[in-house]
Amino acid sequence: MLVSELIDQQTKEWNREAVQRLLPHEAEKILSIKPGKGCAPDKIIWTLTKSGIYTTKTGYHAAETQATEMQTPTGGQNLFDWNNTVWKAACSPKIQVFLWKVLQGALPLGENLEKRGMRENIACVHCGDKETAHHLFVSCSFARKLWELAPISTHAIPSTNTSFADCLTSSKKLICLPPSGIVEANLFTWISWALWTTRNKKIFENRTISPEKTLSIAISEAREWQGAQITEKGRDKDSTMATTGCLRQQQVESSIKVFTDAAWNVSHRGAGLGWVFSDTQRTAFAHGTRFEEFVGSPIMAEALAIRQALVEARNMGINDLQVNSDSQVLIRVINKKELIKELVGILQDIYELACCFSSICFIYISRKDNSTADSLAKQALCASISR
Ligand SMILES: [Zn+2]
Repeated sequence: MLVSELIDQQTKEWNREAVQRLLPHEAEKILSIKPGKGCAPDKIIWTLTKSGIYTTKTGYHAAETQATEMQTPTGGQNLFDWNNTVWKAACSPKIQVFLWKVLQGALPLGENLEKRGMRENIACVHCGDKETAHHLFVSCSFARKLWELAPISTHAIPSTNTSFADCLTSSKKLICLPPSGIVEANLFTWISWALWTTRNKKIFENRTISPEKTLSIAISEAREWQGAQITEKGRDKDSTMATTGCLRQQQVESSIKVFTDAAWNVSHRGAGLGWVFSDTQRTAFAHGTRFEEFVGSPIMAEALAIRQALVEARNMGINDLQVNSDSQVLIRVINKKELIKELVGILQDIYELACCFSSICFIYISRKDNSTADSLAKQALCASISR
């Protein structure tokens, strides 16, 4: 059987009935992959890079990881690379300090409290076993459940035979699977932090948080942090040029402008898309919204909004178009024709649709200049979720 047999050839959307019937346990993941509607060719993708293109550097790392996994981990503390593993970890400074405390035995875990002569409240809040760093973050049944749900391949799940320090060391190479949207953040560190806060909420506020919720907190905080890093990098000259550059031809004075935005909900995996057209006098003359299910990441939602706006513009017979979005990353990707593996089909659609216009350009604008599209997107999301 071929993947194409699960796609409706007319609409180029997944045949939901077939997906649910044949692969019910994978249905949500499959539906989160958005096929392009145009003719993006099939291709082989290397999952260890953001672009999906093989590089010898990542190939070398993968081979090296495999080789070291076969050897027995030694994990001597004196060989521990503090700088790279803790102080350069892809997480917030708060979490770096937290990791340092875990490794120094300075976190008030049951085991450490016991060493200081305390006898009470030293057991794991989830299962009652002795609370050590390794137990709480790796081997407790609560942590195991969470690791199994995490968007990482099964062989990347921290092994119960490996110390916390070794898990942290190997997490530098941890790759998150699309469509999690985690590219740069080290998810191991964010999950450890979320496990710690969940434990504290249980102890100090008597609030129980499920493994699912704990994971979802870790992922959304990691994404938020990652988004802020990209914005900082985006301030360099090169990407400023890319975010205002045009894909084809120069910006035409008589261009119609379309403002697009998306609102995305992490727990429902749904996205509201909004767009508004305005003429050269800056008068809005058309707008629309749409709700999409099974959307895996905010950038996917933004790309779907742009694709939909291009379809609308083409149907209205617009010739010169200026597309405005507040997703700096996406505008850069489109203008530089970069690749993002989870967006391959949608980006191809955008490039194909762009050819329908005499002139078109893609421009990054700030959020405050995109408020109309933003509220349309939010309305579409709220209306569908509250249904
Ligand atoms: Zn436990």
